[in-house]
Amino acid sequence: MSDKKVIVIGAGIVGLSTAYFLHQKGIEVTVIDNTDGNDNCSFGNAGYVSPSHIIPLASPGIISQGLKWMLNPESPFYIKPRLNRDLIRWGLLFKKAATQARVRASAKVLNALTVQSQKLYEEILKEESIEAGYNKPGLLMVCKTEAALHHEAELVKMAQSFGLDAEMLTREETEKMEPEVEYNTVGSVYFGCDGWMTPHLFMQEFKQRLISAGIDIRFNTTLKEILHNGSKVDRLITSEGELVADDYVLTAGAWTPLLMKQLKVDIPLQAGKGYSIVLPKPVVIPKMPSILVEGSIATTPMMHGLRFAGTMEIAGTQLDVNQRRVQGIIKGVKDFMPQFRDEDFSKVEPWAGLRPCTPDGLPYIGRTQRYKNLLVGTGHAMLGWTLGPITGQMLAEDIAGETPSIESPLLAVERYA
Ligand SMILES: Cc1cc2nc3c(=O)[nH]c(=O)nc-3n(C[C@H](O)[C@H](O)[C@H](O)COP(=O)(O)OP(=O)(O)OC[C@H]3O[C@@H](n4cnc5c(N)ncnc54)[C@H](O)[C@@H]3O)c2cc1C
Repeated sequence: MSDKKVIVIGAGIVGLSTAYFLHQKGIEVTVIDNTDGNDNCSFGNAGYVSPSHIIPLASPGIISQGLKWMLNPESPFYIKPRLNRDLIRWGLLFKKAATQARVRASAKVLNALTVQSQKLYEEILKEESIEAGYNKPGLLMVCKTEAALHHEAELVKMAQSFGLDAEMLTREETEKMEPEVEYNTVGSVYFGCDGWMTPHLFMQEFKQRLISAGIDIRFNTTLKEILHNGSKVDRLITSEGELVADDYVLTAGAWTPLLMKQLKVDIPLQAGKGYSIVLPKPVVIPKMPSILVEGSIATTPMMHGLRFAGTMEIAGTQLDVNQRRVQGIIKGVKDFMPQFRDEDFSKVEPWAGLRPCTPDGLPYIGRTQRYKNLLVGTGHAMLGWTLGPITGQMLAEDIAGETPSIESPLLAVERYA
């Protein structure tokens, strides 16, 4: 037992995981969140727990591809042009990170994080008896063109070099994997290392387990101001009054840089909006998730239906839905999976979430140097669901005075300071 008190700001998968591991170490923790706790980016995502995803978004070729996509209002990628200093700086840092050497270095870190996080999920699911439809193995990267398949072959080589279960499949082999599903494909990549689940069910059950264990979670409580004495955070001003602790952990997702600005700590980060839609009774349910590669669409068989997710809009922290891009997802699905028709999507309600995206595709995890009692866990972009548990574990280890399970200067919070 420790007599330390910790406040965690943000009850997404990263914040809840941090609270879980702190509690396991006997550390008193309070979590605050400005919502009612029933929706954030950790609820409507594609649910992949993906060791296969070792290539960060900032990679060679992405900028020219992105510029092409920018011209199409239904494309999966968009940056809203703005004369905004933070956005311009983020873009320049992104470009700088998009090199072969940097991708290789980042992939090594992502490999260590994703593999360990998947193990932690499996332990949490078992120990807490959470039923969220976790399944393994499988992810198919389905390609429509030879060019895309050729590109994926490079990814397979890299994945195999990290010891991951990855193999190229012909069209016939893909059909054998999914005999009920018609894919418009020339072949695919099969990642046997990946798993998936229904994220909102996990979030609901996980939250309940934490509350039952005695963790103080305060919803509808907004962090407004962080007061400090120059080298330490003193206290927090929230919508419900003042809060004081020994250590403070910011896990506020895409909103974290707004809070860090108060402390004059610059963490370049942009919100990357994505959408998902669910068909409760689809014409066909695949056995495993697939990424429809050229459309950048994720499909996931979940406990309440079939989910399609996609798009990356760098357009600020608004959660409004751009129907043209949702239509882009639907068009992409019909194109790749001809069993689906327009009428299947007539009643769907799109969900939107904000991925916290760093310029180099690696999260910020750890203690800040400027404020000795402030820690940050954010910036996981497209891998935040996968990496929630390992991030929580690393932050809890640091707070408990232990060596974090994974250490890398590439994850440092102030690496761009
Ligand atoms: C369409 C889509 C599909 C995705 N699919 C996958 C996937 O398959 N696999 C994967 O690994 N990742 C996926 N992701 C990414 C993943 O969902 C996110 O990276 C992850 O959920 C981020 O978690 P978080 O805890 O950092 O942030 P969030 O879940 O956003 O939680 C942050 C919380 O902090 C709260 N907060 C903010 N400001 C304050 C404040 N001032 N005071 C109090 N509370 C505050 C917010 O309201 C929010 O509840 C996907 C994302 C999208 C959009």
